[in-house]
Amino acid sequence: MHGLLSLLLFAAFFYFMMRFGCGAHMVHGSHGGHGGHGAPVGTATDPVCGMEVPPGQGYAKVHEGREYRFCSRECLDRFELEPKRYAKGGAR
Ligand SMILES: [Zn+2]
Repeated sequence: MHGLLSLLLFAAFFYFMMRFGCGAHMVHGSHGGHGGHGAPVGTATDPVCGMEVPPGQGYAKVHEGREYRFCSRECLDRFELEPKRYAKGGAR
């Protein structure tokens, strides 16, 4: 019983290591552009309107190495018009 459990744990650990390494590699690679279907980490805040965007929803854009998430296409367009205004200008 005990042995089997630790074996399972080890297998799971190994599996996650593999996945993680592979995923990091992929992200680091040449695929840029559209976000959304990756593995979102958690709720992000829309820098334009301040709404919270749940994982897997809304629109994403990478600006200067950072990913920003938007509740709607409208907010994304506004960000693209004036990225500087929304990217770092805010309080906080
Ligand atoms: Zn918004």
